[in-house]
Amino acid sequence: MRVGVLGGGQLGRMLGIAGVPMGLQFRFLDPSPAPPAAAVGECVCAAYDDEQGLQRFLEGIEVATYEFENVPASAAKYLEGHVPVFPGWNALEVAQDRLHEKRLFEKLGIPCPNYCAVETLDDLKSALTSVAPPCILKTRRHGYDGKGQHRIERIEEAEEAWLAIGEREAIVESLVEFDWECSVLCVRSKDGTSKTYPIVQNYHRGGILRTSHCPPAVAVPPDLEATAVAYASRIAHDLEYVGVLALEMFSVGGRLLANELAPRVHNSGHWTIEGAECSQFENHLRAVLGWPLGSTEVRGYSAMVNLIGQEVDPCSVLSLGAHYHWYGKEVRPGRKVGHVTVVEASAEARDKKVSSLQERIAQHA
Ligand code: AMP
Repeated sequence: MRVGVLGGGQLGRMLGIAGVPMGLQFRFLDPSPAPPAAAVGECVCAAYDDEQGLQRFLEGIEVATYEFENVPASAAKYLEGHVPVFPGWNALEVAQDRLHEKRLFEKLGIPCPNYCAVETLDDLKSALTSVAPPCILKTRRHGYDGKGQHRIERIEEAEEAWLAIGEREAIVESLVEFDWECSVLCVRSKDGTSKTYPIVQNYHRGGILRTSHCPPAVAVPPDLEATAVAYASRIAHDLEYVGVLALEMFSVGGRLLANELAPRVHNSGHWTIEGAECSQFENHLRAVLGWPLGSTEVRGYSAMVNLIGQEVDPCSVLSLGAHYHWYGKEVRPGRKVGHVTVVEASAEARDKKVSSLQERIAQHA
């Protein structure tokens, strides 16, 4: 059975790694000639909206899915005319546009930061009277890893921010003084059954995820975790979602504010490869194939450290008893090129190992 994946980055590669033991074959569509997923399946090198490329991608695949959400609507709709595509276009449409995302949160009673949609510099200037600085101007579309964002500290910086993001449709939102950031990954199958992995604590710097801890290193009130899980499940249910979705949130004063939705496997779930009974990658495949979902129970205290813009000697990481993942990408500043996971029997052992790991990574920087 062959699964088609739009996008051939590291998420596609890890989907392939999870699917091969179950006898699955993979075909990836990616505009670059040798993407990371080429190690685990065939690659069709074409633009996402190239109809001939899409035709080659479709040949002999059972189902199509995504590892990348910024796929043009035309491509998603074309595929849907030929094979089952999960998650459905409705989920991508919401996740591609920060305004649609916020409106979904509001519709479902999920709190999010105070925001205002803006289309012109004048809109932005008047929005700053209700969404007072400090705030963040974010492009509605095509932003990731902190790109397409500009912080506004004072009203006078409106024009600079507007030019910095390229004068595009945007939203301006209050800067949240959060205590910590978190995410919940939910997997939902075709028959509507869903499971969630426990809440994950995430640490970002410069808009890029650096580490994830599950369970969190901070104390989490039980009702906060239950709320986070309820929010992610509510979204999955409302969208009649099939596959894994991630909901990123800010924890502030014991409350949760939704930040972003990812309609795919997510970096904050990479720890599940070694740290959960069934990884997010395997569960995503099971869901899109209509197979029974695997257990989302954890196997211990996990943490994931991203390797960003730098190599590390695999031996220095492996000798700590950590798990090393390299994506086969060219190293460039700010680029996610691999990650390392630790799974331990206690939070103390995990946190100690993460410190040693970070020291070793820093030595290679
Ligand atoms: P995003 O691309 O929206 O997921 O933002 C990336 C990261 O930037 C988040 O994980 C936060 O660390 C930070 N960030 C984004 N929006 C806000 C906000 N409104 N307040 C505080 N930090 C934010």
